[in-house]
Amino acid sequence: MTDANFYLQLRQHITTWAHELGFAAVGITDTQVKHYQPGFEAWLAKGYHGNMEWLRDHIDKRFDPAALVPGTLRVIAARMDYLPANSRHIQVLKTPEQAYIARYALGRDYHKIVRKRMALLGDKIRAAVLQAQPDEEVLQRAFVDSAPVLERPLAEKAGLGWTGKHTLILNEQAGSFFFLGELFTNLPLPLDNQPQPNRCGDCAACLQICPTDAFPQPYVLDARRCIAYLTIENKGPIPEEFREPMGNRVFGCDDCQAICPWNKFAQPTTEEDFKPRHNFAAPQLLTLFNWTEAEFLRYTQGTAMRRLNYSQWQRNLAIGLGNAPSTPEIMAALEAKKANAEPWLAEHFDWAIRQQLNPNRRRKRKLKRPD
Ligand code: SF4
Ligand code: SF4
Repeated sequence: MTDANFYLQLRQHITTWAHELGFAAVGITDTQVKHYQPGFEAWLAKGYHGNMEWLRDHIDKRFDPAALVPGTLRVIAARMDYLPANSRHIQVLKTPEQAYIARYALGRDYHKIVRKRMALLGDKIRAAVLQAQPDEEVLQRAFVDSAPVLERPLAEKAGLGWTGKHTLILNEQAGSFFFLGELFTNLPLPLDNQPQPNRCGDCAACLQICPTDAFPQPYVLDARRCIAYLTIENKGPIPEEFREPMGNRVFGCDDCQAICPWNKFAQPTTEEDFKPRHNFAAPQLLTLFNWTEAEFLRYTQGTAMRRLNYSQWQRNLAIGLGNAPSTPEIMAALEAKKANAEPWLAEHFDWAIRQQLNPNRRRKRKLKRPD
């Protein structure tokens, strides 16, 4: 068995290697996350997960990393910043002819990039251990926003930040615009286990700004009302009550992050791959709506937007166009696409056409939860 001093030194190397691989921070925690289970099950029982039924699967593994990857003793959690230097998020939200795409999705899909880097970190760790102790059995597996992994609580326990009232991990030096990755390992690495103190205080800006009032209480998200869920996870119609508050947000939403005072410390990404492709930072709604399916597939290839199919894409854009200033070009495009659309999708085009025909409409920008 390799000795404690060796692991202390290895811990220092892990920080160095993580930085070399593009991670801004890394922390190590144990696997004790069982105490999060009652809160998660209460959240499921309220139906706040919407149609994300897969969240009900593998509960035993979600709350016991060693049940997911046998032998796991530690979880190495790492942070990779994704905000482009000139993200223009406020400017785009205020320009109703433009489409707002969540800032995490502007460049190459993060899943493969971050998971590959976590795996490379694992390779370096394995090589160091085997060099010191060739007989050591090193079991490791990398995850990024996949499998039943309790990503945010593990990151919090590992000291990467605290859980904000908007339910995301927040860091006082880096805000919240970052991806998380995890490496499960059987190595007895020294623990960080120093969660940052919660610095939300009396602030409630994220809860108040939410266009669809998706927070029934601080630290609890009703996904069914969240624009990220409505525009991405939801495959069918978007209930009419949410359409005006969606504004021009056609893939996800960042409002609760953008308003957070700690995000003035958000670090710009250093990753070329996360920089916006195809003018995705500030595209015209009508340009995107006019794409054929082949163009949609070509331009979104390799991005997180490929989680949508073409019908969802058109559905979201039609709502954006319904909220945009009236123009003959928008009307013509909606009418043309409506002719060949399935009935559920054509209903969204009809809604947008009605909105366009009503020049006196005053868009409802904020919705209240029913009591
Ligand atoms: S992402 Fe947008 S819609 Fe979802 S909770 Fe945050 S502010 Fe509300
Ligand atoms: S906006 Fe305020 S309450 Fe919400 S996460 Fe940020 S600091 Fe916390």
